[in-house]
Amino acid sequence: MLDKKLNLLLKISACFLAASLIFCVSAILYSKSLTSTDETEEVRQSAAPTVTPTAAPTPLSASDTDEERLVIVLDPGHGKPSSEMSDDEKRAEGYEYNENEGGWGEWRHYKDGTFGDDCHGEDCTHLAPEGGSCWYPIGNGDRDTEPDINLNNALAAKARLEELGFEVRMTRTTNDENPSMNKRVSYCFPMGDITQPPDASAYICIHSNAGGGRGSSYIALEPPYTQKYISADFTERSNEMGRSLNAAAATAAQLGENAPINSPYLILFNKCPVPIAYLEIGFYDDASDLALLRSSSDEIGRAIANAAYEFLKNGV
Ligand SMILES: [Zn+2]
Ligand SMILES: [Zn+2]
Repeated sequence: MLDKKLNLLLKISACFLAASLIFCVSAILYSKSLTSTDETEEVRQSAAPTVTPTAAPTPLSASDTDEERLVIVLDPGHGKPSSEMSDDEKRAEGYEYNENEGGWGEWRHYKDGTFGDDCHGEDCTHLAPEGGSCWYPIGNGDRDTEPDINLNNALAAKARLEELGFEVRMTRTTNDENPSMNKRVSYCFPMGDITQPPDASAYICIHSNAGGGRGSSYIALEPPYTQKYISADFTERSNEMGRSLNAAAATAAQLGENAPINSPYLILFNKCPVPIAYLEIGFYDDASDLALLRSSSDEIGRAIANAAYEFLKNGV
């Protein structure tokens, strides 16, 4: 009886020991599994890519397969007064001297369906201006206030466009230059080589208005345009770009947004091979507009750049 009781006690103890052992091993294994889970999580977290703020939009590239950046030409208009340019400067800026036409200037038109082949007054579409001359005399650099305002707006737009991943080509970078229209549009081509197809996606003219009024506008195009490289939707694309960039600039500078100016046959519209936006931001001869223009060039340039990004993102 005693033996049986002792035997039973031993068996119970053995079971208890075994149970304790299993419990201990289980506890150790369980704690190990927790640890290894934690370590895995930590490793996974440190291996995950760093999350960057998404404020900067994805840079646009010319296609999905290459890394080439889209090109935008920025033209701040005007520049150095032509009266202060030497003959060598005029020649270097793309003007020519023509005694029959009364001095320095350039041909306004290209021959129908060409790029860079001046009309010389013959075989010309005579599209612009209505009944006007084929010769464009030098002189549009002669402004006091506008060149500087335009340049500040354009440089601010350039800085933002480069942040957004664009290649930016400026038609002038100082107020000491006054390139011809032919030279300005040559920036639409690779290395300025007009024998190759243009590689720019857009041409943006940044001007300011004068002559009575307030607010911001753009100059609307009207077909036909018959120069080489012009796409079927040249007018529509250009006007839509002008509308959206002007709206953005007007908002940024707290200028009123005016209706488009209908002046369809500007020399640049007849020479530019890619969609073109021609902005007239504020009236620099109005004191209130001028104060806004003087204080808001960073905001204006940034707004133009952001709007150009949105426009090209939806249209390329
Ligand atoms: Zn002509
Ligand atoms: Zn102007």
